[in-house]
Amino acid sequence: MASRLPVPSISEARTTLRAAGMRATPCRVAVIQFLSRHKAPTSHQEVCLELEERGFDKSTIFRTLNDLAESGLAHRMELGDHVWRYELTAVGDQSAHAAGQLHPHLLCTACGGITCLSSRQVQVSILETIGEISEILLKGRCRHCLSN
Ligand SMILES: [Zn+2]
Ligand SMILES: [Zn+2]
Repeated sequence: MASRLPVPSISEARTTLRAAGMRATPCRVAVIQFLSRHKAPTSHQEVCLELEERGFDKSTIFRTLNDLAESGLAHRMELGDHVWRYELTAVGDQSAHAAGQLHPHLLCTACGGITCLSSRQVQVSILETIGEISEILLKGRCRHCLSN
């Protein structure tokens, strides 16, 4: 399981945004902090649940998520259930989520939960010789469901 560094402060989040050539808007800062707190890829809807209460509207949050994905700060993925999920690439855990590094995900078919795996746990280096891989998805049952 990927672990995370502490949530970046507002000024750290701003620095991250500016380093990526983006304006540090309040919504972008809030989304970066939100994604840092979550250990697994998060959907637009899940982000809205919390950030709408703080006065950000759905379409601004959606645009922000996609801006972060386009800038490379976030990774956007579709794991077979037609829901876009986002996770930070440059902020947070330094191993599984090192900048731009592709890592596999386990989608639990029992609870729908997603677990980040490091590419050390799943050997993926051979895939690079096949072509350009955008997503590595494993399906099965997560540890939590197996123990229940
Ligand atoms: Zn599960
Ligand atoms: Zn992940």
